[in-house]
Amino acid sequence: MSSYNLETKCVQSGYEPKKGEPRVVPIYQSTTFKYDTSEQMGRLFDLEDAGYFYTRLQNPTNDAVAAKICDLEGGVAAMLTSSGQAASFYAIMNIAQAGDHIVCASAVYGGTYNLYAHTIKKMGVDATFVDPDCSEEELNAAFRDNTKAVFGETIANPALVVLDIEKFANAAHAHGVPLIIDNTFATPINCRPFEWGADIVTHSTTKYMDGHAAAVGGAIVDSGNFDWSAHADKFPGLTTPDETYHGIVYTEKFGKGAYITKATAQLMRDLGSIQSPQNAFLLNIGLETLHLRVPRHCENALKVAKYLKNHEKVAWVNTPALEGDKYYELAQKYMPNGTCGVITFGLKGGREASVKMMDSLKMVAIVTHVADARSCVLHPASHTHRQMNDQELLEAGVQPDLIRFSVGIENADDIIADVDQALAQV
Ligand SMILES: *Cc1c(COP(=O)(O)O)cnc(C)c1O
Repeated sequence: MSSYNLETKCVQSGYEPKKGEPRVVPIYQSTTFKYDTSEQMGRLFDLEDAGYFYTRLQNPTNDAVAAKICDLEGGVAAMLTSSGQAASFYAIMNIAQAGDHIVCASAVYGGTYNLYAHTIKKMGVDATFVDPDCSEEELNAAFRDNTKAVFGETIANPALVVLDIEKFANAAHAHGVPLIIDNTFATPINCRPFEWGADIVTHSTTKYMDGHAAAVGGAIVDSGNFDWSAHADKFPGLTTPDETYHGIVYTEKFGKGAYITKATAQLMRDLGSIQSPQNAFLLNIGLETLHLRVPRHCENALKVAKYLKNHEKVAWVNTPALEGDKYYELAQKYMPNGTCGVITFGLKGGREASVKMMDSLKMVAIVTHVADARSCVLHPASHTHRQMNDQELLEAGVQPDLIRFSVGIENADDIIADVDQALAQV
């Protein structure tokens, strides 16, 4: 980890050109890499030497950008994935297999819920979803002998529940398993979960990190803090020989790099969800201004939230940034400098009024996206979460009339003016 401040890391980390090399991280638009002898290449396939041979496993552009994200989070190793979904999938499947179990906060992104509740279940991994506000006793009761990880989001999309990271970290560690945090909404600018006991961090880099809605991508970062060997019986994939690499043991050979090395050498090799180097290049440009954009998103979101709060047609406004919000205190603890640019609200006219208001917006667009420079809205019950019934929606913290408003970095007065004229149509 470099000693620079976050702002400097956003701009400088991950890539240091030598004499005469390109100043900007180049796009290594190459599937493969050249060697002089068969022996040299063979050593790469045995994980005896570090190096590039095929972009499905590793690419220098991706590694430079992953190193920047790693530095921002304060981790020891990181990798890029083709999407946030791939990151959430790999983060679990790197340490769980058929017959295992995970504990997950119930307020999570809809795609993550589907992945953990349904898709990995078909692969034999069960999930128990717990109310993020549950007591320590309730949380502890969710664990089983075969539990391998705990998962939650710093700020849940779209419920905007702030996770008590320390509470979840303590419970995970008491049961000898790591805490994995999806830090997409907070970004390392506002929260660094490793500082609160999280062991692994995942990202949908598609959101604020890219910030321009240009490229889908994901990332996994390892803090290096979880001692896999101390719980060797739970994590045989990391602590016993991998026959597909002549019996190497990841924890013995790679130490703190074991988790990311295994995810790259085994999961990426076999499942192949690498981020394209082109997308990694775009992501890196986004990262260079992350520290400038995130505070502006937060500032604008607070202005819009305050405007909505005072509007007669608005039933409720939800953002942990607003004093009086249920999660305000937790947000102050974990994210004293700001939360995120996403807020939610509902109208007194209910679901129908919400849809009418959205349809009347002129600048703010209806898109299946959050967290990019342009303001946008979405109605989760009709869009991202439409596979859930009302009960599941409420458990995920999503009211049926909820509008998710991703406040962009335009002039706040223009955003408010658009919302104002749309509310007048309702
Ligand atoms: C969007 C999102 C994901 C999924 O990421 P993709 O890049 O769309 O695959 C995961 N977690 C959170 C919090 C998200 O907002």
